[in-house]
Amino acid sequence: MASANGVVPYPIESTDGQTTATLKISPNDGSVALGCINTSASSANDILISSIVYYPNTGPSPSPSPSPSPSPSPASSQKIALFSDDGLQIPTGSIVPISPSVYQGLCKGIHADSPTTRNLSVFCFDTSTSNFVSGCKYSVILKAGTKTGGHDHDTATAGTRPLGIIAPEIVTISPQTFTAEGASFSYEATDIAQDVDFEIMGIGSDGRTIPGIKGTFRVMDPASTGFRPIELPGLVMNVQSHPTGIYGTSTFISKLDKALNLYFENPADIDHLSELESQGATLPWGGLFDINRDWLNPHCGHRDGKTIDISINTPLIKLDPLERNALESAISEAGLNFYYAPESPEAKTVPTHWHIQE
Ligand SMILES: [Zn+2]
Ligand SMILES: [Zn+2]
Repeated sequence: MASANGVVPYPIESTDGQTTATLKISPNDGSVALGCINTSASSANDILISSIVYYPNTGPSPSPSPSPSPSPSPASSQKIALFSDDGLQIPTGSIVPISPSVYQGLCKGIHADSPTTRNLSVFCFDTSTSNFVSGCKYSVILKAGTKTGGHDHDTATAGTRPLGIIAPEIVTISPQTFTAEGASFSYEATDIAQDVDFEIMGIGSDGRTIPGIKGTFRVMDPASTGFRPIELPGLVMNVQSHPTGIYGTSTFISKLDKALNLYFENPADIDHLSELESQGATLPWGGLFDINRDWLNPHCGHRDGKTIDISINTPLIKLDPLERNALESAISEAGLNFYYAPESPEAKTVPTHWHIQE
């Protein structure tokens, strides 16, 4: 009675016209169950068992339905379409780039708040007529993507990774009904670089699930494509919080290289110059460098490949006053700046490191 794949080969009447019958035989007692599977569902997780008829294997066989079945109605021809604010369609699987936001948080007075957003438009269209239709619904959810922009820690050990904000709601937009003119929502990026996956789910004007759109917001400083690792003689990159937090722009690295050369070639009568160490520059994709691995500042700056911390006074590195003087003049002569007074030669007490910025 059943075909090899377990689908009953003769018609079973369904109430919604989009289901087909399935047959399951229990390996334990040989009992047989009939169920309905939604043939328009996209994955096994979407299977709907809308009715079950159970016949014990010891009982009489049911007689097949004698009546001809109604032909099933075709799958919905409606689909969700997504467009960016510049009018370009965003097909499913797209990467949508966006720069990280900047939130001042504990860096008040150093950064201003500067959120970045993308506005996206959602339409429902009929693939058979190519017309936009009204009465569809959509909802949006965000999930952490696989690439983290240099945050090599996961969400489990350091709290939930922020994913950004979707307006009109926060992380999930519950179903919104929209017209043939479409609807729009905005995504506000986090200030940490990362991939954030989105899924826009659609419900057609007849209430049936229709194909949606999946994609990825790539929160990344666009300038970071020009970053490269800081690998300079005499400078040990010892970034324990985020081992890949060693990036800089080419211009910044050139200036740093010049500063190191000036330092080690210092003509003053210093018989010993210590090697230098850094515990942080910029992450591979830029954005907030959460030194405490908690998705939060402070670690102001360190976003754009133009910043580095040079250790001055740590358990491992202790520069004496002559070395500090040599380093200070080399940094200034190379065109770099001490941007933050409490982490500069101006500081009243010697800080653990100097924060140096282009
Ligand atoms: Zn991190
Ligand atoms: Zn710093």
